[in-house]
Amino acid sequence: MNKILIKNVKHIEQDIVDVLIDGKIISQIGNNIDVPADKVIDGTDKAILPSFYNSHTHSGMSIMRGAADDMELFQWLNEHIWPLEKLRIDEDVYNAVRFACLEMIKSGTTFFSDMYEFFPMTLKATEDMGMKAFLGPAFFDFGKEDLMALSRKKMQETFELAQNADDKIGFSVGAHAIYTVCEESLKWIRDFAVANGVPVHMHISETEKEVDDCVKEHGLRPVEYLESIGFFEANVFAAHSVWLTDDEMKIFRDNNVKAIHNPCSNQKLASGTFDFKSMKNEGVKVLLGTDSVASNNNLDMFEEMRSAALLAKLSSKDPTVCPASEIFDVATVDSASAYGIDGGVIAEGKVADCMLVDLNHYLLNPGWNLMSDVVYSANSACVDTVICDGKILMENQVVPGETEIIEKAREFMNRVQKDFK
Ligand SMILES: [Zn+2]
Repeated sequence: MNKILIKNVKHIEQDIVDVLIDGKIISQIGNNIDVPADKVIDGTDKAILPSFYNSHTHSGMSIMRGAADDMELFQWLNEHIWPLEKLRIDEDVYNAVRFACLEMIKSGTTFFSDMYEFFPMTLKATEDMGMKAFLGPAFFDFGKEDLMALSRKKMQETFELAQNADDKIGFSVGAHAIYTVCEESLKWIRDFAVANGVPVHMHISETEKEVDDCVKEHGLRPVEYLESIGFFEANVFAAHSVWLTDDEMKIFRDNNVKAIHNPCSNQKLASGTFDFKSMKNEGVKVLLGTDSVASNNNLDMFEEMRSAALLAKLSSKDPTVCPASEIFDVATVDSASAYGIDGGVIAEGKVADCMLVDLNHYLLNPGWNLMSDVVYSANSACVDTVICDGKILMENQVVPGETEIIEKAREFMNRVQKDFK
């Protein structure tokens, strides 16, 4: 038995309530709940909210925060990120993923969808931190036979490894992008994903250059090209999805492709403006992610929500577009359902993925409208307690072991900085 009783907490759609969590489920919401519990939390001056689901990140890059900034994507990757990544060892990635999980927990996130290398270390660190995730290695081949074979072998091995992971971990096939994965491999990825019933997580139409190169090579835009090879027979999660025409949005909608909006990364790399209004109008399922700290430079979903809402208004020249409650749903319940999690709302029978925020924090005051404050004003500093699958990951703003996790996050930089130009 693992029962948590939260007393006298503000519910975003109700007044002050008690919330009982029994195992992984929110079992009861009401007044004066009086049942024996393993843990009682005083919710006075706190509000209970669903926790966030971060739909696109690369947690193993967290140790590269601030390593290279202020340049365009291809220069950033080729001259800085990829050379730096060659210097890592297993332990660096373990440290990086724990560090990323720490940051996500501190900012109210309990689930992330990850694409990265060093899968065993990523898996172990995620399990050790108690977070929920879809994890998968990134498939790269650059059209080379040896890399094709190596990536296929790696995908098969990591998929098998994931079968023994704890039940909070799902597997997704990371297909890096159309400019790093050849057509033959894209078809292999599609078949692998369909055969094993796992989703594909891929960067699609992130930059204008990606679109121009695709048109030159295939005579089609990226989404048209992927449709032409039957790629969307798989369950595809498309990170960025910045440069889509209306027709490409329809292809997404008709094939149930999820478009993952990464507003901070898109702004920092000047990749372009995600057309939130048209995506929603066309009926595309939209999710929200941070991308990695190397292009953001944090994993705070509060900032991502605010940024997404502001950009949607600016780009459509319409302040009524993307109201607070809409982007909050994107970051919570919409994302949860896309990953098959019956959570993202604080209601009886739902999965207990939630957080308590401090209603005495200045960013949540004077308190006219909690939803407005959460989306347009709050940040991670407002988060007090985080619960994932009915287990407490942070209480009173403390995650067990956080000092050591931060110290370990410096090791990679300390080792390679002097040799890296
Ligand atoms: Zn990415």
